[in-house]
Amino acid sequence: MANIKLKHPNNVPGTFFTTHPDDPNGEGCIACNVCYSSAPDFFKEDEDGNGYIYRQPVTPQEISDCVDQLDSCPVGAIGKAV
Ligand code: SF4
Repeated sequence: MANIKLKHPNNVPGTFFTTHPDDPNGEGCIACNVCYSSAPDFFKEDEDGNGYIYRQPVTPQEISDCVDQLDSCPVGAIGKAV
């Protein structure tokens, strides 16, 4: 599960977030490029290729798009706060 205490600093405030690559639990972003290539309306890469949320989803379809990325992240580095 994505560590909400280790959010990537570039995430915009909101429900979805990505985690910092230094997460000691091994669930930090590994710069695989899945999220920002599949859902570029919400995810961007930083200078090291790590993903972060730059726009939070609003509509049900947009939320579904981000949940798809959450499910696709190979290391569980995308989180959804409840
Ligand atoms: S899918 Fe996960 S590991 Fe890959 S870039 Fe996005 S947050 Fe990082």
